[in-house]
Amino acid sequence: MARAGSILWLRRDLRRGDLPALGAAAEAAGDSSVLVLYVLDPTLWKGAGDARRAWLAATLEAANEAYDGRLCLLSGNPRTVVPRVAKETGAGSVHVSRETTPAGRRRDEAVRERLEEAGVGWVETGTPYAVGPGSVVNGSGTEYKVFTPFSKAWRDHGWPDPASEPKGMTLSRVASDDDAWKEVRAALRGKDLPEMPDAGEQAALRRWHDFLDDGLADYGDRRDRADLPGVSRMSAYLKIGAIHPRTMLKDLAGRRGKGAETYRTELCWREFYADVLWRHPQSAWADLRPALQGMTYESHEDLVEAWRQGRTGYPVVDAAMRQLLSEGWMHNRMRMVTASFLTKDLHVWWPVGARHFLDHLIDGDIASNNHGWQWVAGTGTDASPYFRVFNPVTQGQRYDPDGDYVRRYVPELAHLSGAAVHEPWKADGGYEHGYPERIVDHAEERLEALRRYEATRA
Ligand code: FAD
Repeated sequence: MARAGSILWLRRDLRRGDLPALGAAAEAAGDSSVLVLYVLDPTLWKGAGDARRAWLAATLEAANEAYDGRLCLLSGNPRTVVPRVAKETGAGSVHVSRETTPAGRRRDEAVRERLEEAGVGWVETGTPYAVGPGSVVNGSGTEYKVFTPFSKAWRDHGWPDPASEPKGMTLSRVASDDDAWKEVRAALRGKDLPEMPDAGEQAALRRWHDFLDDGLADYGDRRDRADLPGVSRMSAYLKIGAIHPRTMLKDLAGRRGKGAETYRTELCWREFYADVLWRHPQSAWADLRPALQGMTYESHEDLVEAWRQGRTGYPVVDAAMRQLLSEGWMHNRMRMVTASFLTKDLHVWWPVGARHFLDHLIDGDIASNNHGWQWVAGTGTDASPYFRVFNPVTQGQRYDPDGDYVRRYVPELAHLSGAAVHEPWKADGGYEHGYPERIVDHAEERLEALRRYEATRA
């Protein structure tokens, strides 16, 4: 294997610009070269779901191009691959952006131990967040449990400017594993893949700049409207690290108005949930707050499957669930509405829905997703949301007032005009193109949800 002075091990930071770990790797390499490595871990790769796999594959191809075709892609368990590559290249240190999810932390700890046993340095520089999880603390040095005070302290904490690219660095030419690239290319040819945006750092920057020019000014007013292109759709790029939030915050800093203000707050939600997960790793798949101990849940698979397929008989829920399957993404308001439907109309425990979202979302992120689900389900960071049961009909009327969103994803209702699409049961011929009847009665299930919540408090 060719020699290298240091290794930059990319994970969810698949870019070249604004990457402090790259600067650290270049500095450590000195006159020698930097090996840029990505390890395709078969366990994660196989468990990722077709959409997320395809998004990762497309982003890896773009990253390889950004690194002049010198991204070294190897397949295997990072616990063995990374120490082996360090040994074979003679690299003195491995550089990463610090990982903050429970699984990532466990993996890194194991790799770090093996490297250190072999006398190879392990250097963490930066994280996928503007402020590293665990850094925002209150006056007594402990965590903020709710969002608003966290967001204020997060702004006060501040963040550095984007990192500039190291000058005069040489990239090592270590051959990839051909089979790994074959797997990547096969993932891009999968059947029934969602329609994905262009992948990679350049595409992320293009989308971001277009949004700054055309979307930001109205963002505060339009972000809840499912029918309008009012949001940035930056989440999948942020998730995979094709762009760092610091770059975005720097651009926002020069802008005033409700749009920029609201956007900063939304980026802060991403940081808040990462912080919560870092402090409470068990909250990835278990209730963060024991607020609903003793709650009874249902597991009726046929109803859950109708929800997954977008066949609940509630138009806006079905449109959203079909958007998820066809685009690998869903509008934020609709994530709340569909999560509420599963947990409160069908009385299903939130991890069932969170799993389905993670299987299909190209922005699928354990911190934002699983805490977003808990926020809706009533076990998350919010103190008293048990009474918050989203009404799938009025939510549709409010956030898709002309029915365009529903018609876009539910062809069986395309013949209904305007807002009539939200209540096919009231429209003449509403069911004539095969749209399913409602699988439950929302009014009854809302009362049932409240009854179950009250029982947990008794
Ligand atoms: P914009 O409205 O343009 O927001 C800009 C950025 O702010 C987003 O890209 C995202 O990084 C961040 N952001 C916005 N809202 C939130 C939020 N509520 N929580 C955390 N970050 C936010 N987001 C994910 O990135 N991955 C997920 O897996 C995910 N799952 C979710 C599941 C549920 C049940 C809910 C209610 C929300 C979830 N979110 C998730 C948050 C939010 O829905 C998405 O970030 C947003 O819809 C992405 O679209 P956008 O980039 O156009 O957002």
